[in-house]
Amino acid sequence: MAAKKDYYEVLGINRDAEQEEIKKAYRKLTRQHHPDKNPDDPQAAEKFKELTEAYKVLSDPHKRAQYDRYGHAGMEGADFGDHGDFSQDFSGFEDIFDMFFGGRRSRTSRRPRRGADLQYQMNLKFEEAAFGGEKEINIPRVENCPDCGGSGAQPGSQPETCPQCGGRGEVSYRHQTAFGNFVQARTCERCRGEGQIITDPCKTCNGQGQVRRQRNLKVNIPPGVDTGHKLRMAGEGEAGPNNGPPGDLYIVIEVEPHSIFQREGSNLYCEVPISIVQAIMGDEIKVPTLEGKVSLKIPPGTQPGRKFRLKNKGLQNIQGYGRGDLYVQAKVIIPENINGKQKELLEEFARISGDEINPEQKSFLKKVRDAFGV
Ligand SMILES: [Zn+2]
Ligand SMILES: [Zn+2]
Repeated sequence: MAAKKDYYEVLGINRDAEQEEIKKAYRKLTRQHHPDKNPDDPQAAEKFKELTEAYKVLSDPHKRAQYDRYGHAGMEGADFGDHGDFSQDFSGFEDIFDMFFGGRRSRTSRRPRRGADLQYQMNLKFEEAAFGGEKEINIPRVENCPDCGGSGAQPGSQPETCPQCGGRGEVSYRHQTAFGNFVQARTCERCRGEGQIITDPCKTCNGQGQVRRQRNLKVNIPPGVDTGHKLRMAGEGEAGPNNGPPGDLYIVIEVEPHSIFQREGSNLYCEVPISIVQAIMGDEIKVPTLEGKVSLKIPPGTQPGRKFRLKNKGLQNIQGYGRGDLYVQAKVIIPENINGKQKELLEEFARISGDEINPEQKSFLKKVRDAFGV
């Protein structure tokens, strides 16, 4: 027996053809190949039979679904069951469970689903992160089609009930198996479980109900954000299919480093160079803060590396309460080159200071002696 031709091929239609198309194709081809019109063609009768058979199957939603799934084998009814491709009939445990316990998974038609979440990487200058404010961003995202409102149907038309499943979104199959007869439900392939088909698709979205848009959004940056922080903008993700709720948009923050300040949480750190004389004698110096320079008293005898805390001069705490502090660290600069006069004065300074010039060194040398006996 020659292999049977594919029914869709016989009628010259696509696998997703609508009822109307199937009918049209059948009418046109039967007119063309009618045996009465082709008395000299012995193939005509055969061709006509083929057309009729294909039409019978494809015009019946139930038979069509069965054919779509099992091909010609599916048309032999009792022939698929407890042998052959039996095992392929069941996509998983759930189906078997359904068979034995009569459970049916709900396949609600045109079920609204939540849209996808989106992520946007936002680079901020140090000051932008410190003070916060409004920033504009431009993101590509899926939105409900503005013309059909997400239905996918051309404005003025309505999605129609799926003729294959009658709007249930699933079709039933009777199975004869080793265990007896079972009715099994499968997602309708015609409408992919939606229960509805769009006969007149919206031109803007090609019947998808959704379109991809470049969207401008204003983002409120709270003061004190830091690298790695995520800001959630509820409902600003992608639109949900079938008018489901939209996803969220997450703004992932990346803050540029500052030329002077380092930050740790809401505290700021910076180094301020002071002269050896300022360290010894003390002074009042200007130090930088986020809001400009302020005065800082360096007490006499300031050691290198000493930290001065400037309360509340750090960053806004991101949780909303208070500000961090600014720690200014004294960096004592030792001059590398001095002139004759300076050298003379320093020698004089050393001479009159005597042992007092470095009491710490004295006690350190004593510790070395005690430790090593030298
Ligand atoms: Zn549309
Ligand atoms: Zn259907």
